[in-house]
Amino acid sequence: MSELHKFIFEGLPVRGALVVLTDAWQEVLRRRAANSQTGAYPPPVAELLGEMAAAAVLMQSGIKFDGALVMQIFGDGPVKLAVAEVQSDLRLRATASVIGAAHAGATLRELVNVRGGGRCAITLDPRLRLPGQQPYQGVVPLVDAHGAALDGIGPVIEHYMRQSEQLDTTVVLAADDRRAAGLLLQRLPVQGQHNLAQSHVADEGQGEHDGTDDPFQRLSLLARSLKREELLGLDADTVLRRLFWQEPLRRFEPAQGSAGPRFACSCSRERVAAMLKGLGVAEVESIVHEQGQVEVSCDFCGQQERFDAVDAARLFTPAAQQSPQPGSVQ
Ligand SMILES: [Zn+2]
Repeated sequence: MSELHKFIFEGLPVRGALVVLTDAWQEVLRRRAANSQTGAYPPPVAELLGEMAAAAVLMQSGIKFDGALVMQIFGDGPVKLAVAEVQSDLRLRATASVIGAAHAGATLRELVNVRGGGRCAITLDPRLRLPGQQPYQGVVPLVDAHGAALDGIGPVIEHYMRQSEQLDTTVVLAADDRRAAGLLLQRLPVQGQHNLAQSHVADEGQGEHDGTDDPFQRLSLLARSLKREELLGLDADTVLRRLFWQEPLRRFEPAQGSAGPRFACSCSRERVAAMLKGLGVAEVESIVHEQGQVEVSCDFCGQQERFDAVDAARLFTPAAQQSPQPGSVQ
């Protein structure tokens, strides 16, 4: 069962979250494997996408916001685009478009940042958008403050949180074909103080330094001792106990089952119809002429929507002649 555990350290300005995606993640992979046009993800792409899905849940868990958190990586390598989207209620979906060969063991750099052109974007898209309101978006290149390529989604998130949110964050992630999991620690702002005031900004991307007098640095060292096999093999209780048994850990009720992270896709026939309308009557008619119908399959869940000649023509007849459509399709 997929689960999200949130916790704080009593008396210390640090919060944390641990996510374990099992069924939710396996469903993402199963649907991709069932897509006859794409087939299953190559293992390094699955690992990348699993880490993104876990990271997106961790980021969503730390904000008060009603809507979708969308993490996108725009790559210049064999992976052109990877997307993980998590709603406030922890429904999630993820997809990647792979245009080249991803060899076993390929690193983040080899997958999406071959020429240093890779980007990571985080978008907060409110569920109820006011007229004219744009979703909030922050974008960072996949290099650190010194221009060195970041090799891992964890370092990318840490870099993003520093750059865009001025939040000191430690993220450890791992994924395979059964599980996608991650641990996040974040420094809580102390009232009247800039969040990074106590941290070591100049040290970003460098090794560990002596931070034993700083609770966040000390706890981060513990978090970073978490091994990939542990994150992929142990249950959440064991992970937290092993890492923080000497710490004043206070855990909250975990989010799991129908209230926890779970696969769900928000695609619909109405959205596909709106997209086709956007293409225009000439384009849609030309596809129908060539192929007899328009067939669109959802990249996230594999759902196929078909519009035959009659359906297609109906898209472009005046709205008054049609059954009512939801007003907020996009
Ligand atoms: Zn879908």
